Amino acid sequence: MRLLSIECFDTPDEAVRWCRDVRSQGLSLGFVPTMGALHEGHQTLVRQAAAQNDRVCVSIFVNPLQFGESRDLETYPRDFDGDAKLLEAAGCHMAFTGTLAEFFPGRLQADGGLQPEFMLDPGPFAESLEGEYRPGHFEGVATIVGRFFEILKPTRAYFGQKDYQQALVVDDLARRTGGPEVVVCPTHREPTGIAFSSRNTRLSESGYAAGLFLSRALFAARGLWLQGERDAQALSSVMRGVLAQGDLTVEYASVRDPRKWSGSEPKGAMERAVALIAARSGEVRLIDNMLLSDPEPCQD
Ligand code: AMP
Repeated sequence: MRLLSIECFDTPDEAVRWCRDVRSQGLSLGFVPTMGALHEGHQTLVRQAAAQNDRVCVSIFVNPLQFGESRDLETYPRDFDGDAKLLEAAGCHMAFTGTLAEFFPGRLQADGGLQPEFMLDPGPFAESLEGEYRPGHFEGVATIVGRFFEILKPTRAYFGQKDYQQALVVDDLARRTGGPEVVVCPTHREPTGIAFSSRNTRLSESGYAAGLFLSRALFAARGLWLQGERDAQALSSVMRGVLAQGDLTVEYASVRDPRKWSGSEPKGAMERAVALIAARSGEVRLIDNMLLSDPEPCQD
């Protein structure tokens, strides 16, 4: 058996010591927060972090604070051994995990939840779409990410455009709290167009076929934008038309200005646009998005 060259820690304390050691040597530290069940999308974040920093660390923590539905938390896929191998191949130096109690010592309630005064405000980008369909989700994300920033003190932190609104929320959080530079990496897609996601492993064959309609709808909106369409309602209506062809329960298919987040779709001709979709294929909730106005960044 080949031993992995990356450090794997089961407790945040060990990870904190390792990061302190990196910083004390004057080295830069890239940090990639994940919930494990890693795939090529996560690997692109780690590769980018490795290209821009002396050391890279990755957290693997299925954060209960950000799951509204307990079934989603229970069925979230977990594969720590597979994760460590993928991380090593992508250039990660250290991976760690921990429990909620270890990340927030002395701050839990009797029922195991975090005391409400330690939950962080996710700010204005949490409004609408994911914020509406997953109440409390971004509070949970901001709280754990803020805690990671506080204890690890990374130079840069890497997030995927796949979770578009999350990237806006954590970038805003980092700016407000003096956190690291937030780097947002492009969405990595399978050759079929579907975005890599840990949840894809829970899709049946027919569920996967239905999931393909998310990216098809986004490409259709992008095609329409390139033909000159600038009206948000027209762009989202073409997405809904494509999504209706798949066996999906659509939560939203909507358009926003990427530089000016708003609770509802902008009116009138748009100068810039990002299209965002959330839909359920059976029990599995999928999200995806695409910038319509700027070229999609190249993937490696
Ligand atoms: P997760 O483990 O789902 O919380 O994801 C951890 C990070 O990986 C988040 O910043 C995600 O946005 C990012 N990510 C997930 N899927 C992809 C993908 N297909 N392409 C790029 N980044 C991704």
